[in-house]
Amino acid sequence: MAEMENGAAAGSNLLKSKKVLVCGLQRSGMDAAAFLLKNGARVTVSDIKKPEELGEQTAKLGALGFDIRYELGFHSEETFASQDLIVLSPAVPCDSPFVLHALSKGVRVVSEVEFASWYSRAPYAAITGTNGKTTTTTLVYEILKNSNIFEKVYVGGNIGVAFAGFSASMTPRDAAVLEISSFQMEFAEKFAPRAAALLNITEDHLNRHHDMRTYTRMKMRVFQNQKSSDVAVLNADDAAVMAERDKITSKCFTFTVTGDASRDVYVEGGYLIIKTAGGAAEKIIKTSGIGIIGRHNLSNAAAAAALCHYGFGVAPEMIAETLKSFRGVHHRLEFVEEIGGVKFYNDSKATNEDSTKVALASFSGPVALIAGGSEKGSDYSGLSADVLRSSVRKVFVIGQVREKIKDALGRSGFADVEVCDTLEDCVARAFAVSAPGWTVLLSPACASLDMFKNYEHRGDAFIEAVRKLKTAGAAK
Ligand code: ADP
Repeated sequence: MAEMENGAAAGSNLLKSKKVLVCGLQRSGMDAAAFLLKNGARVTVSDIKKPEELGEQTAKLGALGFDIRYELGFHSEETFASQDLIVLSPAVPCDSPFVLHALSKGVRVVSEVEFASWYSRAPYAAITGTNGKTTTTTLVYEILKNSNIFEKVYVGGNIGVAFAGFSASMTPRDAAVLEISSFQMEFAEKFAPRAAALLNITEDHLNRHHDMRTYTRMKMRVFQNQKSSDVAVLNADDAAVMAERDKITSKCFTFTVTGDASRDVYVEGGYLIIKTAGGAAEKIIKTSGIGIIGRHNLSNAAAAAALCHYGFGVAPEMIAETLKSFRGVHHRLEFVEEIGGVKFYNDSKATNEDSTKVALASFSGPVALIAGGSEKGSDYSGLSADVLRSSVRKVFVIGQVREKIKDALGRSGFADVEVCDTLEDCVARAFAVSAPGWTVLLSPACASLDMFKNYEHRGDAFIEAVRKLKTAGAAK
């Protein structure tokens, strides 16, 4: 059984005829199952969802042409207890009675990223934290790609393609950048990133991990198997992160968005600074020249710089190039266009008031805010307080809750609210009232399902409306 771990060195034929259960048939379960089937394992797939809900997945696996045993709509103790290995998707809780039963019978249970890591011959970076994972992961991927140090750079994990979807395809000349959630670390044993970053820890997912200690412990697991020559990157501005520093045995580097020059990456005189190997402080880039905006994104940029420089030897000037050109992850405070001196930002991913708060804190100049969407039961007093505290001059509301938001803003003393029928109307009206130097920001604080398929659809509709305005020759 233990020999399966040496897949990278010995080739994956070590899986041949092994009985492996893949539990959870979402993205990572699909990739793990496909990899196992292609390498000769005897695969059972178990998911609590009913067969009719998993038609697309079973059709895809079936098309691979291997024998597969399915247990759909239920789990059985017998199946769980009779495996050589269980590969668990992050959606399956670690204290599921079936998992506990398998463990009590001596069956080895690993998470999908752990399993995938056994077959990687390339170094990989891991990024975890409560917020900012996707942005930082994407940024690190772009920096490594643009640096041309590696033949091919892969990105995935908790976003895009699961690690099992590509780990065995990588050569030692490649690298991977992985977004890692706390759930993916529940059954990690040997997962050992060349460089890993912990961005922040705030209360989240406590329903699953029960308490902050467990949640923190799961996040800290990205560091637990690192060698002393590997790199750990910590956010010095987050006390909960720094409280864990002593547990790290790899080379530890810290970043801050303050002027604390005792850190490895910090901000001074308007520049993001990094201490290079010789200890010299080198300017990376003017913070105003970084393509993504807001203090939270400056923190993400500092983390990415530390990870790429200390973990993979990327030169500061190479990091600067990508920090300058990176416009943000699609739908997350993403810069879209500038028309007649008015900048448009798409933050459609902001489906709750907390995210909109972060977005509003990122602008100091005048803002025309577009908000609203489907009903979630909020009274929008939080949003109103944040709007009042911000540089928002005008609000345009759409969707099911448009009158509710307008009333909440009115009660808090903000009267400049216009109700619109469509997102396109909002864009046109917001542009009409804006002067050069203004920002038109879509940061809805609401889900999108009343008018759109999902937040991506809403963000794309926003971008289309902005581009239409530009094509029509709108000017100030
Ligand atoms: P994640 O993948 O961890 O959910 P994202 O990069 O997708 O993170 O960002 C999601 C939202 O989290 C952003 O729109 C922003 O509101 C907030 N955010 C991003 N980075 C940070 C950060 N470093 N600190 C606090 N909040 C952040």
